[in-house]
Amino acid sequence: MKKNTKKILAILAVVAVIAGVLAACANGGSTDETTTAAPTEAAKETLVMATNAEFPPYEFHEGESIVGIDAEIAQAIADKLGMELKIEDVAFDSIIPGVQAGKYDMGMAGMTVTDERLKSVNFSDSYAKGVQVVIVKEDSDIKSIDDVNGKKIGVQTSTTGDIYASGDYGEENITKFDNGAVAVQALLSGKVDCVIIDNEPAKSYVKANEGLKILETAYVEEDYAICFNKDDTELQEKVNGALKELIADGTVKGIVDKYIPAE
Ligand code: GLN
Repeated sequence: MKKNTKKILAILAVVAVIAGVLAACANGGSTDETTTAAPTEAAKETLVMATNAEFPPYEFHEGESIVGIDAEIAQAIADKLGMELKIEDVAFDSIIPGVQAGKYDMGMAGMTVTDERLKSVNFSDSYAKGVQVVIVKEDSDIKSIDDVNGKKIGVQTSTTGDIYASGDYGEENITKFDNGAVAVQALLSGKVDCVIIDNEPAKSYVKANEGLKILETAYVEEDYAICFNKDDTELQEKVNGALKELIADGTVKGIVDKYIPAE
């Protein structure tokens, strides 16, 4: 090979190497571009709410979805915060432990604020009132709350109805059920003499089943609120801020009125 030819080949080789390096850089550049472009399409942050969807009209199943007052208020809160709401349907007594363990961001289940629960979780402002009432069969000899003493009482495990009735009438008279629907079935079949439960679900159950009524004398009045992990005061404040606005602009009232028509 002539000296000149060798030189030309060497130059070509160098050019080829440079071209290769440039191509690699260009590729690298475009890869970077796609990774930086992705976050603009990023999924919204999720807001995981735990509930027990056997508590109409606050939360219940309608086909595949969980609907009700709590589900709609939670959706309005998530929309305001630009978050994606995810509802987990769990046993009522798993809600607070799950929130404490960080499994769920918040619990919303017609949940009453109590001093005992405040030791485990924080609560939002209250968004609704509840009343513990007594459901009996229409022909029951339980005519008022004073006649409940010594009777067989059905409750939903770990609810305030359970806690108050166990304290007032003795554990031995209390039968605990997973949810209101099964407690009411036990009343219909005569396994218990009455069911102590929140007034709105009570109305739903009485409407859905023949031969039941609610005693006029109420048992205990209470406030419903959303619970949070004690360490997550940031989320608690954000949700509470959104809830305040939704109460002030009438959204919460609109949702409540939709599910609880005025009598
Ligand atoms: N308000 C009652 C409580 O907090 C019942 C709630 C429920 O059963 N979902 O204990």
